[in-house]
Amino acid sequence: MKKILAIALICLLTFTGAAFAETLKMGTNAVFPPYEYYDDESGEIVGIDAEVAAAICEKLGYDVEIVDMDFDALIPAVANGKIDMVLAGLTVTDERKQSVDFTISYATGVQVVIVKEDSDITSVDDLFAEGANHKIGVQQGTTGDLYCTGDIADAGLGSVEPFKSGTDAVLALTSGKVDCVVIDNEPAKNFVAANEGLKILETEYITEDYAIALAKGSELTEKINAALEELIADGTVQSIIDKYIVAE
Ligand code: GLN
Repeated sequence: MKKILAIALICLLTFTGAAFAETLKMGTNAVFPPYEYYDDESGEIVGIDAEVAAAICEKLGYDVEIVDMDFDALIPAVANGKIDMVLAGLTVTDERKQSVDFTISYATGVQVVIVKEDSDITSVDDLFAEGANHKIGVQQGTTGDLYCTGDIADAGLGSVEPFKSGTDAVLALTSGKVDCVVIDNEPAKNFVAANEGLKILETEYITEDYAIALAKGSELTEKINAALEELIADGTVQSIIDKYIVAE
């Protein structure tokens, strides 16, 4: 009996809740810790982006639904209105600005290089050196992929192997199929901690800004920017980041 009552109550709350709050669909690619990943215990997608989205939506009176998809499907999905926004440790680039609008930035990312501990690649410059010929693993469609393709593969200084996830790219590195992986620094730290014999080069490839992407001309952009500004000013965003990224 108690169970039935509880279920009835949940249904009631769900329906009345749905009647009051509109749901915003947040697209992400949940293989990017600590920005988005599946929590082992709850099985839910958690991370910096989920919490930033929740804080924004709470301020604006929306519910959030997280939709997990391939990374390279995110921009088309938000541009076509299948989802309302992308929070995916997503870097602002001029090319992406042609198809989506970006909010103000809420975090910084750095493209770094992961190598085996005994690698002959000792700095980022080695990837661009004359006569270099490395196999570089990347996550498909990411800025790491775009930069390495443009700077290295197109310049005849090596080849780029795209993988569905950073985890797959790192697996290729540990099994010797690629010589290094170029990826965002925070997931890189997670991957290196989870795999023996890897390290991150001290020199960085490039620093970038993460922001939320919305459909071009979306009325939400202004509202989300206003909410984000407040959440940055009052320290909420920083405290979310600090919860997931422990300062060295
Ligand atoms: N910051 C990178 C990009 O925007 C990678 C993001 C990701 O893999 N989730 O391309």
